[in-house]
Amino acid sequence: MKGQPVQVVEAKDDHLFELNEEALSEILMNPNVRDKKVVVLSVAGAFRKGKSFFLDFCLRYLNAYVSIISFNSADWLGDEDSPLDGFPWRGGAERDTTGILLWSEPFTMTIPETGEEVVVLLMDTQGAFDSLSTVKDCATVFALSQLLSSVQVFNIMLNIQEDDLQHLQLFTEYGRLAMEDSNAKPFQDLHFFVRDWQYPYEHDYGNVGGQELIDKRLKIVEGQHSELEQLRRHIRSCFHKIGCYLMPHPGLKVATNPYFDGRLSDITPEFKEHLKKFIPALLSADKLIVKEINGSKITCRELLEYFKAYLKMYQG
Ligand code: GDP
Ligand code: MG
Repeated sequence: MKGQPVQVVEAKDDHLFELNEEALSEILMNPNVRDKKVVVLSVAGAFRKGKSFFLDFCLRYLNAYVSIISFNSADWLGDEDSPLDGFPWRGGAERDTTGILLWSEPFTMTIPETGEEVVVLLMDTQGAFDSLSTVKDCATVFALSQLLSSVQVFNIMLNIQEDDLQHLQLFTEYGRLAMEDSNAKPFQDLHFFVRDWQYPYEHDYGNVGGQELIDKRLKIVEGQHSELEQLRRHIRSCFHKIGCYLMPHPGLKVATNPYFDGRLSDITPEFKEHLKKFIPALLSADKLIVKEINGSKITCRELLEYFKAYLKMYQG
């Protein structure tokens, strides 16, 4: 596969964050992409919940899309026995460096309606909620990824709990601090991505069941505690669109086998079916969401400037 993951933001000691400006410029200032509008898909959430694993299937989709002349949406997932590569994912308990990674190869796609060429970037985030001292770092990583992406996939295990919503509130509040005052909704698309969903008889796998679940969780009901109501109003006020996708369990090999290398033959058919539904819903050319900041669509070159500006705000 062409390209590699590049750590563009890295947490240093004392909760400082450093921008790898040279590496980032190399990606964003490439003459083939710098003046094109940019789509940024980010995946964020707690550590060891399959974020990078999922992004590697997004990479497969994009690679197939740009390299196959007559792209056949049916078989982009790849052959059964190839190990999964791309962003590093792993079964071990060690954690990678906290920060933000981008895939070094931007993908150029054409929006069918307008014929405009746009650039798609994949963003991986790394952080943990494992101790108090890391919550701030985690919030910073999440806030930055929120500010810099047009589509945020909020990856969570099993169910949407009240504390997931509280985390989201913290991250978006934190991110909002960096934005200009405006009445417009500051962020674009948010997708809750629930892994290992166990109650398909209550809400079915996929986006319809997901929408039911998220609508239920974000519902404001009479007599609700005002704090819960505030939280829900806040989250709704932050995003243009909030969706949710319920994923089936990928099978025991994926979840527990230390020798699992990501090959499709070790993954349950249901999980693969849902990858084939969810990923094109995010990344097919007619679904792309160009990054907007304060109401205007931005280019790769402008994104670089925003990276620098936002990083500066979190230096103090
Ligand atoms: P990240 O830290 O969130 O990026 O997690 P990784 O992508 O590195 O994956 C961590 C572990 O979760 C790996 O061992 C994967 O095999 C496993 N994994 C990936 N997807 C799923 C899933 O949907 N459910 C479960 N139970 N495990 C998964
Ligand atoms: Mg990861």
